[in-house]
Amino acid sequence: MKIADDMRRLGFRRWYERQLIESHAYLVTAFLALILLLAGIESLDYLRGSPLFYIAIIGIAAGAGMLMIITWRRFITLLARAEQFASGADCPQCKTWGRFDVISAEAVSEDDPVESGRPHWVRVKCRKCGADWRLG
Ligand SMILES: [Zn+2]
Repeated sequence: MKIADDMRRLGFRRWYERQLIESHAYLVTAFLALILLLAGIESLDYLRGSPLFYIAIIGIAAGAGMLMIITWRRFITLLARAEQFASGADCPQCKTWGRFDVISAEAVSEDDPVESGRPHWVRVKCRKCGADWRLG
């Protein structure tokens, strides 16, 4: 329920803005991890050292590769969910965008990773006219 709680606390517009900022922070991290991965691979050709040095470089490059994959998946998940919710944030009656209260949301457990994209839906009620509908 963290996302529903965040929407209640911040309001949808601020929540959406923060999702865009957070997802793009993951994108920047993925890009930097990609650069570190490629630099590690490239340095194996030019740097001379002990076998331990090569193992360390390969370990750093592998860690950067894993970080890149995780942050890229989080970027995609957060951005896709934010865009999905934002595209349905128009009130079906009065067409007001993003001004609603969260009524309920898909159940989310503490163990769900960010990559699961839960909750996939949120039930909301318009602050202006009182209509309710489902996002997602
Ligand atoms: Zn409305």
